[in-house]
Amino acid sequence: MSRMERAVGAVVGSAAGDALGAPFEFGLPGAFSARFPEPGLGSEMCGGGGWEAGEATDDTQMALHVGESLLERHGLDLPDIFARFQRWAAAGPKDIGLQTEDVLANGEPWNLASAAHYKVNHHAAGNGALMRATTSAVYFADQGRQATMDAARRIAALTHGDRAAWEGTAIHHELLRVALDGGDPLAALPEVLAHVHPDHRERYANVLAPRWTPDHATEFNGAVWPCLASAVWALRTTSSYEDAVRAAVDLGGDTDTVAAVTGGLAGAVYGMDAIPTRWTQPLHVPLPGAGDRVLRVPELIDLAQRLARPAARG
Ligand SMILES: [Mg+2]
Repeated sequence: MSRMERAVGAVVGSAAGDALGAPFEFGLPGAFSARFPEPGLGSEMCGGGGWEAGEATDDTQMALHVGESLLERHGLDLPDIFARFQRWAAAGPKDIGLQTEDVLANGEPWNLASAAHYKVNHHAAGNGALMRATTSAVYFADQGRQATMDAARRIAALTHGDRAAWEGTAIHHELLRVALDGGDPLAALPEVLAHVHPDHRERYANVLAPRWTPDHATEFNGAVWPCLASAVWALRTTSSYEDAVRAAVDLGGDTDTVAAVTGGLAGAVYGMDAIPTRWTQPLHVPLPGAGDRVLRVPELIDLAQRLARPAARG
């Protein structure tokens, strides 16, 4: 499988997971499999909870804003990404993370806003930076591990003042980079963990270990650790894109984001062709703050391909 098929798989796979999980957000474990017991039976892209069938949420919307900034600015322009996030937030997306909303609207400049929030709230280890990783991971992958993990941390820090969120987002980017290279992200975990900030390494090593299951989570999966860990668990315990994403949604809780993270990883591992067409067909991503466009799969493929092309460096 080509690197390009994996890059497209990551971007579309994350968006499809997001849309599949959205109607089940804050639901109980097992809700998805109770409704759709067999893969391929019924319209799993069912909509509900305010979401149209196949409609992707803030996870994918923010990822696309990051991707478009990287392409249009020919690299990492953090003030530009922050300004795009602010325009998006002001345009009234259907969903936005509480913390992300606070940071984008607190009136501080791009390089101080998340730190100002963290100073007051102390808790900023949500999964809101983890969820938007695929576009930047695809863009930075060919620049190697350090460039990828550093970019991940800096983009995460725009909205999250807690280093735990930066490190989780950096791990996710690096797992995606390994997969895009055709490697096994699970086998790479010990090496990846060696490059995590020492203050955060042990906790990530615990939740990403093979013995960990979602039953071991000590927080709601809207937190960065169980969210990333659940995605890695879903990848580890299944053998297809479809089964991994079904397992993620079936965990309940923050289903759109856990499935977006899982779908990005599984899409990079198994490629675009592994994503069911009955999921990609209704998939669409409204993009508030950018001319109210609605992106469908052809536009997502085009974006992923441009991000993956070294010429995108400009
Ligand atoms: Mg969401």
